[in-house]
Amino acid sequence: MSLFNIFNNEIAIDLGTANTLVYVKHKGIVINEPSIVAINRRTNKMMAIGREAKEMMGRTHDEILTVRPLKDGVIADFEMTELMLQEFIRKVSPARFMGKRVVVGVPSGITMVEQRAVRDSAEHAGAKEVYLVPEPMAAAIGVGIEVDQSIGNMIMDIGGGTSEIAVIALNGIVCDTSLRIAGDELTRSIIQYFRIQHNLLLGEKTAEEIKCTIGSAVPLPQEITMEIKGRDIVSGIPRTLTTDSTEVRSILLNPIAKIIEGTKATLEHTPPELASDILDRGIILSGGGALIKGLDEKIKKETGLPVIVAEDPLTAVVRGVGKVLENLAKYQEVILKAKKY
Ligand code: ADP
Ligand code: MG
Repeated sequence: MSLFNIFNNEIAIDLGTANTLVYVKHKGIVINEPSIVAINRRTNKMMAIGREAKEMMGRTHDEILTVRPLKDGVIADFEMTELMLQEFIRKVSPARFMGKRVVVGVPSGITMVEQRAVRDSAEHAGAKEVYLVPEPMAAAIGVGIEVDQSIGNMIMDIGGGTSEIAVIALNGIVCDTSLRIAGDELTRSIIQYFRIQHNLLLGEKTAEEIKCTIGSAVPLPQEITMEIKGRDIVSGIPRTLTTDSTEVRSILLNPIAKIIEGTKATLEHTPPELASDILDRGIILSGGGALIKGLDEKIKKETGLPVIVAEDPLTAVVRGVGKVLENLAKYQEVILKAKKY
């Protein structure tokens, strides 16, 4: 018998480009796994999902394909997104999702077609009522902001595929910028740099590990060195190389500057009254990208505003959609209105 079958009919989901988190009503977060699906190319059958599929990434033979269905921004692969969503829902409710309610966090820049796709896939998985909440709004609720007040708050959610920067007041998003430059782009720039500068080919997982372990936005009190492994492009043979946080910071400089540009652009579009609130209250950072060492300090330096990293930034959105689920009446106004066709 499933652990979750008592409360399995109301869930909230953070469908992220890098990680999917599922919250079960009255229980809390029960799933926190990479948004990755592994399928068999020949039979088209799903072989693994989440963490298990991530383990296979870069290690597959011809028959297995690992897919990140939301990789490049919003939804890159509708079919795979649906498959993944259904599988995660099945995980919390193995018998059958005798679904009632699902609250899903979606990127604020999501198109109507994409909204429809998310609704449809949740419905195919058995949901009767589907509620969509923009991610920056969910993140704000997750970190405990009273979003119904007239006070302006700025949230910067840096995920895998997108960075979403939004000013929130009176239950709505006043202005926002959605950039396709976020954690994945930082990882890609590491891969590209080592290929060009050191003739060393790194796997995506290795590059991500370098970013998380020694990546930084400002000089560190104690710079860190790291030994990395890859394949030499010229000889084709594996080799190791020692790098350090100074070198990696120089790689990340450019993509980080672009993210900060997005913040400045959003600030320029912010009505003056709200801008003055943000000057007092600062920018709140959420998403995995908030964990880059010294990013808060860098943004503070560039914008002159206070910057606060959310507590447990990777779970801010799911905690937010969880709160919406627990208190739908209170959060009516933050839910995206469905368009009737
Ligand atoms: P999404 O909402 O798009 O699924 P997340 O908020 O889960 O994204 O963040 C995932 C991104 O955060 C990935 O690019 C990952 O590499 C990055 N990340 C996770 N932990 C860290 C860390 N400690 N330092 C830097 N980046 C991190
Ligand atoms: Mg996210």
